[in-house]
Amino acid sequence: MTSTDVAELAEQRFESTIDELTGYLEYPAISCDPAHAADVGRLAQRIASDLTSLGFLAQVRSLEGALPLVAASRKCGRPGAPTLLIYGHLDLQPVRGEAWSTPPHRATRKSSRDGERLYARGAADDMGGWVSHLAAVRAWLEVTGDLPLDIRFLIEGEEEIGSPNLERYMDAFPEDFSADVMVLTDCENPSVDLPGLTTSLRGLYEVDVVCEALSSDVHSGLWGNMAPDVSTALSKFLARLVDDQGRPVFGLCEVSEAFRAGLEHIPLDAEVIRSGAHLLPGIEPLAELGRPAAEWLWRQPAVTILSTTLPRPDAHKNALRAQATASLSVRIPPGKTRSDLRAELEALLLIDPPGGVRAKLVDKPGGAESWLYEPSGPAFSAADRAYEKAWGRPLVQIGIGGSIPFVALFGRRYANLPLILNGVMDPQTGAHGPDESLHLGVFKKAILANVYLYEELGLLRPTGS
Ligand SMILES: [Zn+2]
Repeated sequence: MTSTDVAELAEQRFESTIDELTGYLEYPAISCDPAHAADVGRLAQRIASDLTSLGFLAQVRSLEGALPLVAASRKCGRPGAPTLLIYGHLDLQPVRGEAWSTPPHRATRKSSRDGERLYARGAADDMGGWVSHLAAVRAWLEVTGDLPLDIRFLIEGEEEIGSPNLERYMDAFPEDFSADVMVLTDCENPSVDLPGLTTSLRGLYEVDVVCEALSSDVHSGLWGNMAPDVSTALSKFLARLVDDQGRPVFGLCEVSEAFRAGLEHIPLDAEVIRSGAHLLPGIEPLAELGRPAAEWLWRQPAVTILSTTLPRPDAHKNALRAQATASLSVRIPPGKTRSDLRAELEALLLIDPPGGVRAKLVDKPGGAESWLYEPSGPAFSAADRAYEKAWGRPLVQIGIGGSIPFVALFGRRYANLPLILNGVMDPQTGAHGPDESLHLGVFKKAILANVYLYEELGLLRPTGS
């Protein structure tokens, strides 16, 4: 029996795999909302019992003050085989206030412009990711009664709130994380035809810009023109940070010619940006100005004003304000750190304050460092061979503009291991927004690639970690 038989069975079982995924998607396991903590727990129990019936030693792990995670392992019949750790997450982003065209927690199958899709919160981020592994594992067990290597699952319940306790779990249950190679399945493919290998992430730095000038609000008619207006000063400060396109004038990076050359395969044209970013008719993507779109999205900084204390139209009064604050989200490009960006912001903001106001930066807690990875070695060649069989082409290296704190954490704690970052999202998935969807063609190819990947990785020598 060969992996081709296993892939064939996985393909025959595809409909029942979709049903299985549909079942998991009914749990509103929204980690940021304490009202849904019980759903996270119930889903974790369900996954653990499903893994148990696949012959895994499965546990729901919990720690004080943390949502649970599922840890499971199954050894194969071959002593000394390498161990693969598969990371995924079971928790979801909230759906409140979003205009969905289908019920967010009831998976709905519909054809779209680019093929059939399954619509539901979490369909691609990230339940489709780890269910694609359950399906591959099940097919191996049904056809051969065994796995080609030792497999561990680690399915987290707090990824969507930034994995605040994952490192505590790593410390408390180190054996759950012990492996020779890791597949972290929460990332994107550059198109439904190109499998992606994520090798960089931007970091996240959140900071408040605070302007002060008066000890209390005062009458604008009496003191305007002589007392500084902090609201205007704040607006001028913010305008200093960006060019005419709204892109940051600080934190820019030089990238290698090799990186730019690799972008040739990335189908990130105006149409993809228009639909992926939900541009209104007549609104164009920002001009590239000598840097390809993928470079702007993955390798350069970005700044967004998240909120301000400027008075709302329904709560204004005719006064000069004592203080004004803007909260900024700054994406840190790979290769730069939070302190690099802070120093550059300070240089722009704290010199020559408009109207002589007092200005300061106040760092917010949290955030994430950027991440840049050089994939090399036999595990990546093995992955390329597996993807070649399932997708008809090897993995394409891509970056992600967002920040995934667990990735930087795995990168720091397990730097000596091959980290294969892939997933089942595509540019039209709409993760974290309304009408999130999983492309079923991508889902099927992901399952087949996993089938071949286990076989290829099973042939490698364990690293002895
Ligand atoms: Zn995710």
